[in-house]
Amino acid sequence: MAALVQQYLDQIRAEQIDLRDGAPASYIPELANVDPDGFGLSLSSSDGFVYESGDSALEFTIQSISKPFTYALALDELGQEAVDARIGVEPSGEAFNEISVDKVTKTPKNPMINAGAIAAVSLIPGADADERFDRIHQFYSACAGRSLDVDSGVYASEKATGNRNRAIAYMLASFGVLEGDPDEVLDVYFRQCSVKVTSTDLARMAATLARGGFNPLTGRRIVDANVVRRTLSVMVTCGMYDAAGDWVSAVGMPAKSGVGGGIVAVLPGQLGIGVYSPRLDSRGNSVRGVEVCRNLSSQLGLHFLTVSRESSATLRAVFDAGPGVRVYEVQGDLLFAGAEQVLRTAQQDSGRYDAAVLDVTRVDDIDDAARRMLTGMRAGLLAAGKEAFLVDPDGRLVPADRRDDYDGIVFRTVDQALEAARQLGAD
Ligand code: GLU
Repeated sequence: MAALVQQYLDQIRAEQIDLRDGAPASYIPELANVDPDGFGLSLSSSDGFVYESGDSALEFTIQSISKPFTYALALDELGQEAVDARIGVEPSGEAFNEISVDKVTKTPKNPMINAGAIAAVSLIPGADADERFDRIHQFYSACAGRSLDVDSGVYASEKATGNRNRAIAYMLASFGVLEGDPDEVLDVYFRQCSVKVTSTDLARMAATLARGGFNPLTGRRIVDANVVRRTLSVMVTCGMYDAAGDWVSAVGMPAKSGVGGGIVAVLPGQLGIGVYSPRLDSRGNSVRGVEVCRNLSSQLGLHFLTVSRESSATLRAVFDAGPGVRVYEVQGDLLFAGAEQVLRTAQQDSGRYDAAVLDVTRVDDIDDAARRMLTGMRAGLLAAGKEAFLVDPDGRLVPADRRDDYDGIVFRTVDQALEAARQLGAD
């Protein structure tokens, strides 16, 4: 089966090999002089298995793909409120290196343009540039699952030619948006843009985001799931320079590109993609990279707004188990919509039973909203003069340490719950 996925990737990559439109970035010689034909594609499943095609071991500089990761780190270190006070989340409609801030708030419009990215660097705690960069470097490496290096040639050139970024940093300092010395912050920003990655590193970093901040390769939680959600949101609206609208329509995955030729794309809960091909279009996105992502999305059905068939799988079975006792068997991942379905069905049926048994043995995962709704279901049933029992052997709904509060209500097996329901009927 894995061979089939490999064939898909090889074919999707091969289809773009003859595409030679665009040109590598030329603002520094190190980028202008890369092999323009380098072409790597990697895909990591959400459990960390990686498929690779072409030059997937070729290193290139991460450039602007660093921006969402430093933003995530800033959110993780400082919390959303503190970061929001310095960096907005609105698409700017301007060039990525525009020397501008929001007219009203005087803060950068979002973290994917240089102004926002430089502000994000300044928020990373550290006594000096080295400490700040170490923290960033460790974070990127933890997402990739290996220690990444810096391209010292690119770093030196970025630093030597970075006057526009200097103008941005000094402007931010004048508005009081930048923490610390602008030159020190810029030094860290130039270093972060010069971190070397492969398409496989990007796929692994993407998979860490796809897993809500858990690196499936190393088994380590790197960052909080709420931080990832915010980061992915900004990638959706602002990740592809001025092509965000086209990108969301055609590809439909939170993504970020960089002038080094890389693109990282995330399908939340499912997979991470990394592509490298250094010829860029007029917007600064990898020409082949965009095409590959479009084709992966359409051929493998990866658009995140694809409306899947309405799931009828949440309620696995509903049946009467003796006089006045009705069993609701639930399965799969339970979120708001699934819990709502369970509640509504139990309510519609309420004329048919005196006691309801909710069996969540086959539930894999349950979020807080669904948990609240299903625990609240008992209160609703009691108020309506009914009884309610729960079969929850793995503590999905009622964690083991709270089980005592539910003595006589929560059971390990359906038979035990039915026995309790019958006892009640007999009393
Ligand atoms: N180092 C580049 C800059 O800040 C990164 C540009 C990019 O990848 O968009 O200008």
